[in-house]
Amino acid sequence: MKIIHTICPCCSVGCGVDLIVKDNKVVGTYPYKRHPINEGKICLNGKNSYKIIYHEKRLKKPLIKKNGEFVEATWDEALELIGNKLKSYNPEDIGFIASGKCTNEDNYALKKFAEALGIKNIGHCICNSPKVCLDKEIASIDDIENAEFILVFGDVFGINALIGRRVIKAKERGAEVIAVDKIEKEIVKLNSDEFIKVNDFVEFLNNPNDEMVKKLKEKNSIIIFNALTKEEECDLAYKLAEKTNSKILPIAKHCNTVGATMVGVPALNKDEIINLIKSVKCLYIMGENPALIDDKALKNVEFLVVQDIIMSETAELADVVLPSACWAEKEGTFTNTERKTQKINKVVNPPGEALEDWRIIKNLAEKMGIDLGFSSIEEIQKNF
Ligand code: SF4
Repeated sequence: MKIIHTICPCCSVGCGVDLIVKDNKVVGTYPYKRHPINEGKICLNGKNSYKIIYHEKRLKKPLIKKNGEFVEATWDEALELIGNKLKSYNPEDIGFIASGKCTNEDNYALKKFAEALGIKNIGHCICNSPKVCLDKEIASIDDIENAEFILVFGDVFGINALIGRRVIKAKERGAEVIAVDKIEKEIVKLNSDEFIKVNDFVEFLNNPNDEMVKKLKEKNSIIIFNALTKEEECDLAYKLAEKTNSKILPIAKHCNTVGATMVGVPALNKDEIINLIKSVKCLYIMGENPALIDDKALKNVEFLVVQDIIMSETAELADVVLPSACWAEKEGTFTNTERKTQKINKVVNPPGEALEDWRIIKNLAEKMGIDLGFSSIEEIQKNF
């Protein structure tokens, strides 16, 4: 039996997780005992993170749709077809969707490929989560524990449990916690001193009550949010933090939402992703499943390529499906919500003919006669 350290892929907190490997198979997880973020604890999602490796819908070979049915193809055939199609469209009619669930290296590769083809319609989906403002200073996860007053927008106790744990630790040390949300959840009410139900975050942030502002100003305070998803809401939260000299920590959606943004792929919310899909004729999606938001827009795309680890609802609609390696089957890095970049480790081999996302993109570019300037993870990493 072997234990291999890696990083949890299930949310943006970036907890360390140990994968237990027996007979070349991952059979479970342990929390990474000395990891500075989760300090030997793990939530249920993190505990079960390894199960995706053996998902029944894992893709093992490239697939090409012929007469409405998927037929297995060689990598050569699939990449040849995609390359020819990409050449047949104007760059403005092509869109690329990257993913905060893929590594920095994967996202960098797709961004480089888009640049080489002159494609401007590119983004990664942040769904309904805060937009990452890279020009603003943010707090660290450790800051939460040292705070005396904590204002939380949303549910960090259920959704980002290891952030929630830090809030609880601060509370145990005497910090006051006020939670604000549109939805009333027992777990949030139980772990806060006061719960304020609102209909509109903008209205609340435009008229914060005097007592709360006084506490934010006078105490060592932090504002944490995973529920402020509109630009206006985020702006108002940053303004409140500036006005009261409080620290601020937005909680991003996926394990590498922040990293994808930092390598230069624009972060797009639900509506912006749908608009991107509607604006193109040919679409290449890496590791995302926008059919869950709107499958009608996808059905109108003339030529759809999906590169993913499982046969998702979006992959079902594709003309070509490419099998990729999941997080436990590749090297690379994730950048968490506090902008800490951490290495993930290859623990097992990918199934069948699945490859790392960055390698698929490099191979496709080569097929089209394009040199992206890298042939290994290390060469990509020199660029950021
Ligand atoms: S809090 Fe997030 S990163 Fe940490 S174990 Fe849970 S899902 Fe994974």
